[in-house]
Amino acid sequence: MPIYEYRCNKCRRRVTIFWRSFSEIGEALPRCSFCGGEDLTRLVSRVAVAKSEESHLEDLADPSSLAGLDENDPKSMARWMRKMSREMGEDLGPEFDEVVDRLESGQSPEEVEEAIPDLGGEPGAESEF
Ligand SMILES: [Zn+2]
Repeated sequence: MPIYEYRCNKCRRRVTIFWRSFSEIGEALPRCSFCGGEDLTRLVSRVAVAKSEESHLEDLADPSSLAGLDENDPKSMARWMRKMSREMGEDLGPEFDEVVDRLESGQSPEEVEEAIPDLGGEPGAESEF
């Protein structure tokens, strides 16, 4: 369950998106969980530049750096998510902490998503299109 931060170009809010898998990132469009807009700019590179640790953060964004990450092992994912959060130097908010806590307690990503209905956008708001 990779996590990326985006800036919505429509409502200008920061959006954290929890992807189910790395393959989904290449297939699905990120969508703003506030306004439903699909014009999102990924923030990871901007954070990297700000911290002058570009190569380090690029390593994190590179799937090959996920050696040791077992997506079928919630505890392994929780460790990786904490590491990523630390490397980014950002507080990803209480929702992120709750996800990690639940993964560490052994819940599967599916169970976590059911337990936190707002996760992954689609907050039940009707599309404004
Ligand atoms: Zn938006």
